[in-house]
Amino acid sequence: MRRMTRKYSFNMTELVSDFNRFHILTMLYQGPTHGYQIINQYKHNFKKELSPSAVYPFLHQLEEKHYIKHTTTVNESKLRNTFELTPTGQALCRNLFRYFTEIHSTAFKILLHTCTHCNSQIYKGTYHEIINGTKKPFCCIHCANTYKQSIITTTTNTTTQPIHQPT
Ligand SMILES: [Zn+2]
Repeated sequence: MRRMTRKYSFNMTELVSDFNRFHILTMLYQGPTHGYQIINQYKHNFKKELSPSAVYPFLHQLEEKHYIKHTTTVNESKLRNTFELTPTGQALCRNLFRYFTEIHSTAFKILLHTCTHCNSQIYKGTYHEIINGTKKPFCCIHCANTYKQSIITTTTNTTTQPIHQPT
């Protein structure tokens, strides 16, 4: 039997609930990085230590499964490994983030606005306009204009009635 969905060699449920590994994947998704950068960023963000033993074995696992690849450079006579997601690794991350966002949709709703006109959810770049003294969110200026037009039609129907030209 052929599988209809892509199978990852990681259990998504396990990954999504493992905050350390989630952090590592988030860092990798932002671009090529070093193991120590992952550790430093963790410390900076959470004021807690992330043990190298939580980072390097996982990076090796990811590489074994071809989700990441590494390049080695020499910096001041020290060997430095740069880790980078492969396209499969990027797909894994996108799936993981989507899964995470679905589970925690309540937390993300705080970032969302709903367009007053078309009801679409806006994550970034909300267009605001003050209408009748109330600041209203819109996904774009066109929705704002259409909404304003619709208010005029419903509230003062005389002003937008088409004028019948005598023929
Ligand atoms: Zn809209």
